Amino acid sequence: MIGGGASGLMCAMTAAQRGRKVLVLDSSNKIGKKILMSGGGRCNFTNYYIEADNYICENPHFVKSALRQYTQWNFIALVEKYGIAYHERDHGQLFCNDSAKEILNLLKTECDKADVQIKIRCAVEKISFENGYTLQTNIGRFNCKSLVIATGGLSIPTLGSTGFGYEVAQQFGHDVYPVRAGLVPFTFSDWFKAVTEKLSGTAIKATIETGGHSFTENILFTHRGLSGPAVLQVSNYWQAGQAITINLLPEHNAEELLKGYKKMRAKSLLKNLLAEVLPIKLIAELENRFWQESATKPVAEIPDAQLAEIAGGLSALKLKPSGTEGYRTAEVTLCGVSTDEISSKTMESMKQPDLYFIGEVLDVSGHLGGFNFQWAWSSGYVAGISIK
Ligand SMILES: Cc1cc2nc3c(=O)[nH]c(=O)nc-3n(C[C@H](O)[C@H](O)[C@H](O)COP(=O)(O)OP(=O)(O)OC[C@H]3O[C@@H](n4cnc5c(N)ncnc54)[C@H](O)[C@@H]3O)c2cc1C
Repeated sequence: MIGGGASGLMCAMTAAQRGRKVLVLDSSNKIGKKILMSGGGRCNFTNYYIEADNYICENPHFVKSALRQYTQWNFIALVEKYGIAYHERDHGQLFCNDSAKEILNLLKTECDKADVQIKIRCAVEKISFENGYTLQTNIGRFNCKSLVIATGGLSIPTLGSTGFGYEVAQQFGHDVYPVRAGLVPFTFSDWFKAVTEKLSGTAIKATIETGGHSFTENILFTHRGLSGPAVLQVSNYWQAGQAITINLLPEHNAEELLKGYKKMRAKSLLKNLLAEVLPIKLIAELENRFWQESATKPVAEIPDAQLAEIAGGLSALKLKPSGTEGYRTAEVTLCGVSTDEISSKTMESMKQPDLYFIGEVLDVSGHLGGFNFQWAWSSGYVAGISIK
């Protein structure tokens, strides 16, 4: 097994429980580093509502078999067996009450009980195949009959992420779709950059849409751009150069709201009325952009056509991110090893015998909310029960 992250450890313990002799090699000084960092240190380890629709993959059916063979309920049962206290947050997300360490300890204990051997600080550099696999590493050579690639994606390079899994896939004739950062904040270089800097730390509920995909959750203004769950979710569907549309008033019909103000509270200033539904600092920025010349007029004096325009700015604010924060802060890597020639039932290569790809190295990325770990558990498990 190359990689002692979420998928690698799940696969290792599952295969070893079946009596297979398993060796996990990991280049880091610690296994499961992303587990420890995840969910703000509390690991959002799965979700009550796991569906294939929560995953992005060129073949949307690919994830179904593994997710059926090892479900969220299987992992929850394991968490409960270890007495790990957990709680549900919005949209069925499950987090540890105390610490992500508990999830890693669970996996380590299961690996220990099944006699999995783990070598850390062991970076695999080259693989060759001739009646079995030979792995060249910084600490020597290893041979094995079956090889599992669980090297993850490129996100957060300081956590041991490398592109090695992609190289292995190509070496054995697999296609690799060009990767990019996912679940990642947006950056801006136009007028909106100054807005995000001024509003840094402010969060509001909004709907963000790009390319036909939309999410309604919090957005967070930061000194680097826009973050928060809705932004991270939509970033998975964003392509460089594409615009995003933000509805800053997802719980209102903006045009009706402004018309209502004009009718019922005609003497007030628009900014004072909007302060009931949006943060004042944000209104000040929007006013500068959309109704500066009417800023001192009571709402009754703003023509209907201009009010409709302002409503459009509030409910469909079009922005063009200059980019994303990239792998430095991304939670996942989008795309990767094409699933076309990987068995969805076992994760084995259809091109190369006894070679398996699991977890994030594959062209499978989940939404925010525990879906990526569930993919790691499910894909790791099915490979673990299949290894010959
Ligand atoms: C900050 C952060 C928070 C996250 N929070 C959540 C969350 O709360 N919920 C959720 O579902 N998902 C979360 N994710 C995503 C989740 O962590 C990953 O999807 C998941 O860890 C992928 O598992 P994996 O086994 O494929 O890869 P990883 O867990 O990344 O493991 C890959 C391992 O391979 C090793 N490796 C790489 N190359 C080599 C090599 N050449 N030789 C030897 N070893 C090698 C690495 O050192 C690493 O240990 C988060 C990600 C990040 C970055």
